[in-house]
Amino acid sequence: MIYRQTQKSRFVNILWNRSTRFYIQEEKALARANRKLSKAEKGTPERKKCLKTLCRVYERISNKREDFTQKLSKSLVDNYGIICFEDLNIKNMSKNHNLAKHILDAAWSKLVTYTSYKAENAGRKLVLVNPKNTSKMCSSCGMLVEKDLSERTHNCPFCGLSINRDLNASINILRLGLQSVRKTDRCPSF
Ligand SMILES: [Zn+2]
Repeated sequence: MIYRQTQKSRFVNILWNRSTRFYIQEEKALARANRKLSKAEKGTPERKKCLKTLCRVYERISNKREDFTQKLSKSLVDNYGIICFEDLNIKNMSKNHNLAKHILDAAWSKLVTYTSYKAENAGRKLVLVNPKNTSKMCSSCGMLVEKDLSERTHNCPFCGLSINRDLNASINILRLGLQSVRKTDRCPSF
């Protein structure tokens, strides 16, 4: 059962990583359109054209993000009874000035919002988990293993576990989410 759950967590991670690639591509188109605009003289038809192009890129990003987050949130709610997300502090994340990061933050924020109301309507549980140490912690032995962002594999020197870094984090997030569900289910709510 746990194995199947982790496979599901992995599935979502893969989907999310695919969207990351898409936003990085769009970032290039955005930079190109901005460059052209800055070169065009004010008040000229050329500048008008550049502005139109820039608006179209923004629109495309917005439409794709909307489409992606709607579909992913629906698929999560249709397929899973309990959905666990990391409770990432969006405000803090947006302090990063990297544009691709901004676009991704907005997509993540939308995904959480959409999943939250769809889960409520469908009677599913959405759990937000404290993200502290979810990447560092070994999902097998619980020890903290330091790693930087470029390391894609979690290699535990304590128990020897070697798995994809996102999968390791997903298992931790799932465990924390299930713990929190068990806790709240024990307390009757009046
Ligand atoms: Zn370990």
